[in-house]
Amino acid sequence: MASAFSHALVAYVIGRSHLWTVNPKRFWILTVFCSIAPDLDVLAFEVGIPYEHVLGHRGLTHSLLFALVFGVGIVRFGFPTVLLKSTEGKKLVAHFSLVTASHGFLDALTNGGLGVAFFAPIENSRYFFPWTPVKVSPIGISSFFSEWGVQVLANELLWIGIPVGMWLIGIGLVSGRKEHHVRP
Ligand SMILES: [Zn+2]
Repeated sequence: MASAFSHALVAYVIGRSHLWTVNPKRFWILTVFCSIAPDLDVLAFEVGIPYEHVLGHRGLTHSLLFALVFGVGIVRFGFPTVLLKSTEGKKLVAHFSLVTASHGFLDALTNGGLGVAFFAPIENSRYFFPWTPVKVSPIGISSFFSEWGVQVLANELLWIGIPVGMWLIGIGLVSGRKEHHVRP
């Protein structure tokens, strides 16, 4: 995994990249939840499922199909008054599916562990991107508060924090210009 902070940060940026009018508080809580939910699969270690198993860490819950199904489920139960077939419903599904999928994309940029089973359960190979600059994060909270954890955060600040910060500044400039246009 990359750290939960980075997953949540990327989810925030995805959310900021479009404009939403639905219940913002619930929207943001569920956005952050979707970005870290795939790592609930670390519980598989507790019940003896090996890392390389399709239900193991970075397996099915990190796949694109899971992201789509999870996105639909989040909208269905998180926004029960929104029809899935409506334009708003489709936009919300696209958002939450993308945020969930972003978790696997970020993990595939890390330099350790096994790769991500993007195509599970149809094809269970594990994949990394050809470029893996992000230092892999320790699994578990106690091991995160260590020298390794500090190094991970410093590394993520460089490879995730800076690009994300630049993207947010870009969004600010674009939306600022839009506001400027509508002023008399
Ligand atoms: Zn993960």
